[in-house]
Amino acid sequence: MGALYVDAHCHVTTSVERQNVALKVPEVAIERCFMSNNTFDWHQVKCLGSSDQKGLSSIGFGVHPWYSHLYYTGEVPATAQGHYQQVLQGGSAEELEQVIAQLPPPTGLSEYIANEFDPARVCCVGEIGLDKLFRLPGNGFYQGDQRAPLGRVRVRIEHQVQIFKKLCALAVKHSLPVSVHCVKCPSLMYDLCKEHLLPHAGVKICLHSFTGSLETLESFWLAQFPHERLFVSVSRYINFKAVESGLQLLQKLPLKCVLTETDFTWDTTEPDRLLQELEFLVQQVAEAYQLDSPEVAKGAIYQNFQRFKGH
Ligand SMILES: [Zn+2]
Repeated sequence: MGALYVDAHCHVTTSVERQNVALKVPEVAIERCFMSNNTFDWHQVKCLGSSDQKGLSSIGFGVHPWYSHLYYTGEVPATAQGHYQQVLQGGSAEELEQVIAQLPPPTGLSEYIANEFDPARVCCVGEIGLDKLFRLPGNGFYQGDQRAPLGRVRVRIEHQVQIFKKLCALAVKHSLPVSVHCVKCPSLMYDLCKEHLLPHAGVKICLHSFTGSLETLESFWLAQFPHERLFVSVSRYINFKAVESGLQLLQKLPLKCVLTETDFTWDTTEPDRLLQELEFLVQQVAEAYQLDSPEVAKGAIYQNFQRFKGH
């Protein structure tokens, strides 16, 4: 098969009510990997992995930091409220109480993995990561179809780290690649990956929509991680908000480390739009590396994606 467009990191809507929404699939073939962020989107992501007869969809299994408070590691907490009081911080006591009142009983991460994770069906562990910036919405966790204003309550970084480490261990156990989200804690993320992932030759790392500095990228990631195991997937809406800085990011990266992504929820995005995002990114890659044509860039990204998935 020739090279296809690659959406190395995309989603479906996190919704408590809505499940199994049919996707409108673009006419031009796009290979994609749907990340799972939580228990709610997992059910749909799981179906997408098994119902795609053309084999274009791969799936990830993960817990995104925005949902990490919904899980516990270790002992079963005596009460849901006790768990949330331990892992959440910020805001007034009243605000915290209001948020906690909306939250479901927390899920044991070990049980979740034991019941739902199947290494034969999952192509990567993702989306996982750390986020020092985000705050919880008033309804307790981000839902694509139930928006609520953001408050001041946050998930303690120590708890995010616990969840992240457990999912890194899952990737190591099954030699799966990871797709990583990192906002505003570049050295903590780097240290964790260096300690928990770098020693395991079978584990590849994709830094999705990388927002760290070019210095961090150069003197930590590129200097320490074998380039065969390191990927940065670039998105238009984050990395190319300013085209110039997107190109600068690409110019720091060996071409073999580059992937493209939309990071969009496919169930709420017009197929043409998905394609436009990826076409734009392919053009930027062609320009940044002075390749003969976008087609050449597309081929290189496609090969990179096959390597990321372990083929
Ligand atoms: Zn994402």
